[in-house]
Amino acid sequence: MGKVPYPDRIELAHTPTPLQPLTRLGQRLGVELHIKRDDLTGCGLSGNKIRKLEFVLDEALAAGADCVLTCGKVQSNHARATAAAAARLGLASRLVLRTEDPQNPPPPSGNILLDRMVGAEIVWITPEQYQNRGVLLEEMAGELRARGRKPYLVPEGGSTGLGAFGYMRAVEELASDLAGLPGGAKEPLTIIAATGSGGTLAGLALGAKLLDLPARVVGINVAADRDYFVNEVARIGRRAASDYGLGAALEADRDFEILDGYVGLGYALSRPEELAAIRDLARLEGVILDPVYTGKAYYGMIKELERNPGCFGSRIVFFHTGGLFGLFPKADQLAELL
Ligand SMILES: *Cc1c(COP(=O)(O)O)cnc(C)c1O
Repeated sequence: MGKVPYPDRIELAHTPTPLQPLTRLGQRLGVELHIKRDDLTGCGLSGNKIRKLEFVLDEALAAGADCVLTCGKVQSNHARATAAAAARLGLASRLVLRTEDPQNPPPPSGNILLDRMVGAEIVWITPEQYQNRGVLLEEMAGELRARGRKPYLVPEGGSTGLGAFGYMRAVEELASDLAGLPGGAKEPLTIIAATGSGGTLAGLALGAKLLDLPARVVGINVAADRDYFVNEVARIGRRAASDYGLGAALEADRDFEILDGYVGLGYALSRPEELAAIRDLARLEGVILDPVYTGKAYYGMIKELERNPGCFGSRIVFFHTGGLFGLFPKADQLAELL
């Protein structure tokens, strides 16, 4: 379409991902419902983060980096995807991960197991230290440079202006998926995605805007609150616009919406009803969501639709942004529901 001035990118993700109809669930809810399977962007590289890393790591390679540094919460999908992509590109990786007690880090399961498998160096820090993660990462990068290394720093979630291009590309892909459906790409739709650091939503909103897709773009936050993400998504959008000359900035409630109210017990903590919703979808449609992001966003979407079936219009695309490995550390809690 040529409307998005993409920066250079390295190909890491398996795209286009399928747009899969959820026919049985859609009938039950009275809407045309599709799921964009971004959990299928890869295996070790699976999920939404790899779309952003295609752009971000291209910049790292162009800068001559020999190692990447990034941060995340425990079981971070972003950290795992970064470490796996780094290994694939022949770069070293250091992950700075948040945990309650760094002296007793969590066992190597789920994403942490994969981080270790691909050779990432893990540095555990406390939640208090995590609040200053930006400074900490800069210090580490400085030490590495002093020793002759060439570190490249990836901010949390890869949610930079550059990373957002990954989801502009996803919208372009979605537009061509929709063009193949009865009704085509001109029918109004609502795009729904879990929001954790904001880059995915910023990219989706910018993409919809630049490509004139008749879409409402709704993020369901899985941490923090609406105010935080209204600012954060707009900030990422501004960075993408100013650094890459997009000529479009994002405004909350016009270009994107944040639907708050489904954080539940807190980031990465699951309520039984959320896990039950994940189980029920797996049984009804054979699609497996994750408990930290997509499960909460999905639960939110269902609750809103139950309350008001017309609230998202007649056509919905839910983004499955990945995270499957986060399900395994919750096996005990899930087993009670099976
Ligand atoms: C990181 C993540 C998200 C949220 O994306 P952001 O760009 O950080 O808002 C959603 N789903 C999964 C599975 C993730 O790992």
